[in-house]
Amino acid sequence: MLLIPCPWCGARAQTEFGYGGDASVGRPPDPQQLSREAWLDYVYLRDNPRGPHLEWWYHAAGCRRWFRVRRDTLTHEVLVSAPPGEAIEDGSP
Ligand SMILES: [Zn+2]
Repeated sequence: MLLIPCPWCGARAQTEFGYGGDASVGRPPDPQQLSREAWLDYVYLRDNPRGPHLEWWYHAAGCRRWFRVRRDTLTHEVLVSAPPGEAIEDGSP
């Protein structure tokens, strides 16, 4: 069982959370100007990294807040978590 540290509630079981996807992808500044291919890439195409990965998680059975987690996709170790907008300084890529 994966334990995920919610910044507000502390470590809880993974079953309390929902995965929100890659947190390293930023919304395009002007979506109206994107080509169809660039929009397709932004919405659907993601890397599948091996190692530290920044992710969005939602504490559905707790505080109902979104936050970011840096998790190693190889070992499933959660390296750090932080609220949106707060810098994550853990030294990993
Ligand atoms: Zn929480």
